[in-house]
Amino acid sequence: MYHHSGSAVQQAAGSPAGVLDRGTTDTEAIHFQRCTWCGTAMYHRLLCPVCQGSDLRTERSEGTGTVRHSTVVHRNTPSARNVSLIEMAEGFVVRGRVMGPPIGIHSGDRVRLSTAKDPVRGEPVFQLVDEPYRAWH
Ligand SMILES: [Zn+2]
Repeated sequence: MYHHSGSAVQQAAGSPAGVLDRGTTDTEAIHFQRCTWCGTAMYHRLLCPVCQGSDLRTERSEGTGTVRHSTVVHRNTPSARNVSLIEMAEGFVVRGRVMGPPIGIHSGDRVRLSTAKDPVRGEPVFQLVDEPYRAWH
């Protein structure tokens, strides 16, 4: 039972207390809530959508996900942009933007977090993990 071979130190580095020392890198991550009752992962919720529980704990996402829906938005801006719903590996869905040509983002594309907060819109920005399939020759 007494193996003080450094494992305790490693655990401390991964504890929430260790995050405070690395606040700069922590901004490049999405944090989500997980229901302590049923384990459902959610994003920016105050109550669990499944069991209505309010006992949520914050976890850090690995930052990888899959595009579930992508829409090209034409606002009064010179260039169109896409608004995508990303289903993260942990099971919650985030609305954000995927870098690249707006029409090049498709459902099922795998993405990973690039920047947790878009400086313009305050939404997370993702980048494609795989090159999108090229339809042209
Ligand atoms: Zn729940």
